[in-house]
Amino acid sequence: MPGNNDALDWIDAELAELADRDLLRGLRTYAGRPGAVLRLDGREYVNFGSNDYLSLAADARLARAAAQTLDLEGCGSGASPLVVGHSTALARLEARLAEFEATEAALVFPSGFAANQGTIAALVGPGDAVFSDELNHASIVDGCRLSRAAVHIFPHGDCARLEEQLRSTGSARRRLIVSDSLFSMDGDLAPLADLANLASRYSTMLMVDEAHATGVFGRHGRGVCEALGVENRIDVRVGTLSKALGAAGGFVCGRRSLVEWLLNRARPYVFSTALPPAIAAAAMASLDIVESTPSRRGELLGRAAQLRERLVAQGWNVGRSDSQIVPLVVGAAARALELSARLAEGGVWAPAIRPPSVPENASRLRICLCHGHDDAMIAKLLEALQAKAAVPCHPSPL
Ligand SMILES: *Cc1c(COP(=O)(O)O)cnc(C)c1O
Repeated sequence: MPGNNDALDWIDAELAELADRDLLRGLRTYAGRPGAVLRLDGREYVNFGSNDYLSLAADARLARAAAQTLDLEGCGSGASPLVVGHSTALARLEARLAEFEATEAALVFPSGFAANQGTIAALVGPGDAVFSDELNHASIVDGCRLSRAAVHIFPHGDCARLEEQLRSTGSARRRLIVSDSLFSMDGDLAPLADLANLASRYSTMLMVDEAHATGVFGRHGRGVCEALGVENRIDVRVGTLSKALGAAGGFVCGRRSLVEWLLNRARPYVFSTALPPAIAAAAMASLDIVESTPSRRGELLGRAAQLRERLVAQGWNVGRSDSQIVPLVVGAAARALELSARLAEGGVWAPAIRPPSVPENASRLRICLCHGHDDAMIAKLLEALQAKAAVPCHPSPL
């Protein structure tokens, strides 16, 4: 074994312990394109695990746009955007995103993770306070920690508690409230109008992460902020190009000075190589599709509502889901794993979500509905679950 001594042996012990607690994860390899049908380790599954909500990740129009740009602009970006400038494709994408989001400006990061992390740490620092929903995405959690601002976690969606926290932190230099708009493990929406009211009442910045909602919610597909009519009350909006838009990368949009500040101060932007031009071109093609075919998101959300109804009728606990993300909360990690494994035997891929992604005893199967799931695929899922409903359901804390 490489290495000089036994200094890394603790890892083997930790891994064994994770395995004992049903929390060890492994990696599989899929063949070909990711889509509603996935070929994993030699077997075909109907795939309810991807965040490819509009089924654009393997769309030929995105691939064509990327291929043309690969020919024109090459593969890599070569450097951080501040050092050699950013590519024509990336500059066009940022202008296009600002137009799409109806904001003054937009800035593209190498990932949504980097966008959240870098933006929070650029907006607040020592002497400031940040207020974060307890179920926010890991990239927000890490951004809060990295910022070195005082971090106040509020119970999920609890605006009364948030208000108490705001009342008691009036002496902070700057304050920031941050929330996902659509929560990735529960599929529920943040109370954005209430958050906006608190932000204005307490002169606090408000940042919303639309990672799962960009392209899916809102009349123009801008997300939950648009759907709830609060877009103009959100100071900082984050989205990803990697989920419904089927490409990769993250972005922040808002007023021009915000973008100028971030490109000077957000470390993952300043110190990371820019998003490759071909990926930017794919994202552009995706935005065209999102704009020109609103029926795609309408159909998806309509079918998601139907699916939730049918799951509830089968006796499943879908928690607070109000979107294309539908959890089946079963409790123990072992139970979620067992259910997922049995569905897989029947050719249905629905991953078990376990701690630390969700709280202890709130393990679940997470079903992500995508536009490419047809009636037969959904029927197959329901049939597989019907057969499993005989297994008693663990009472859930949700
Ligand atoms: C996936 C996700 C991100 C990260 O986006 P990537 O582009 O995949 O890095 C950020 N926020 C939320 C809520 C997410 O679910």
